[in-house]
Amino acid sequence: MSVLDKFKLDNQVAIITGGASGLGKAMGKGLAEAGAHLVIADINYDLAKATATEFETETGNKAIACKVDVTDVDDVAHMVTDVMNHFGRIDILFNNAGINEHVKFEDMAYERWIKNMDVNINSMFLVSQAVGKVMIEQKKGTIINTSSMSGIIVNTPQPQAAYNTSKGAVIMFTKSLASEWAQHGIRVNTIAPGYMKTELTKSYFAKGGDMIDTWMRFTPLGRPGVPEELQGAALYLASDASSFVTGSVITVDGGYTAL
Ligand code: NAD
Repeated sequence: MSVLDKFKLDNQVAIITGGASGLGKAMGKGLAEAGAHLVIADINYDLAKATATEFETETGNKAIACKVDVTDVDDVAHMVTDVMNHFGRIDILFNNAGINEHVKFEDMAYERWIKNMDVNINSMFLVSQAVGKVMIEQKKGTIINTSSMSGIIVNTPQPQAAYNTSKGAVIMFTKSLASEWAQHGIRVNTIAPGYMKTELTKSYFAKGGDMIDTWMRFTPLGRPGVPEELQGAALYLASDASSFVTGSVITVDGGYTAL
């Protein structure tokens, strides 16, 4: 098999949470272009449907939308049933849905702290356990979790303790699951993006000012990333090209964590 063949995902089934927009959409598109059938699992069903249609039209591979709140145990169970009824297997799980809030810790309501933990890390318990049971049965699977460079360093100047804490937890969750599930033929890795231009961050970039100047001063490449710049790392981790890689963190951050 040539090295390029190792990146192919022909006929594999991939679920991506938060795949309707932003980084999830770009990374999912990369997997679809490599041959995978995609399940766009998102709380925003209309957007997920539009994304699935776009993927099918542009890649010729199947793509379906699934309305799921990743913090809801029943939604997650229904998603797994639907995907199994539709495709009969799940090869790749991409836990990507996430939220971020800039709030001073002393002002943060406990409910918002819990919300951040629920969407960014507790959802990975629910979705990985439900999908993992299928993968254990198959004796094969690849899980990718979207963390952030915020799981490694503390961003400045914005206060976002809940986000940073949840993204740090994603990294340790990844390592723990990689260690537990290697015996089942399941690899688990995480991508840690730096500042990228998406819906989550575009209002900050539009406003500019001190915060953006600081972000760019600490980014050696001197610019935010675009979502497509995550596709290479995502495809590498999803495919056999990374067959000896598990429990790893790949930073894609313009050099931010190198400083
Ligand atoms: P985004 O807001 O553009 O997209 C997030 C997607 O998740 C949306 O489609 C949204 O509908 C969906 N979603 C939100 N809550 C959900 C829920 N409860 N259940 C199901 N779907 C839900 O955000 P993004 O910038 O693409 O971020 C994607 C991931 O990348 C997040 O985990 C984020 O923390 C991480 N990240 C983003 C950046 C960045 O600069 N944008 C940097 C590092 C890490």
